[in-house]
Amino acid sequence: MSEKICSKCKGEDFGEGTDFMAIRPLNKKFSSGSIKIYTFCLNCGEVSSIRIENPSKLRKYTD
Ligand SMILES: [Zn+2]
Repeated sequence: MSEKICSKCKGEDFGEGTDFMAIRPLNKKFSSGSIKIYTFCLNCGEVSSIRIENPSKLRKYTD
């Protein structure tokens, strides 16, 4: 996990955060969805990855 290197500034310190905006299934507007977690460089702010906190919440709608 800590082997990450920022593609912009070569920094090695990363943090995680969320904007609390949920990703919702396209066809289920009113479902609660799942928030996104951003992994970003603590030096320059470059976002290295975005993941969904609970992908299983979305799985049941994909079929
Ligand atoms: Zn950086």
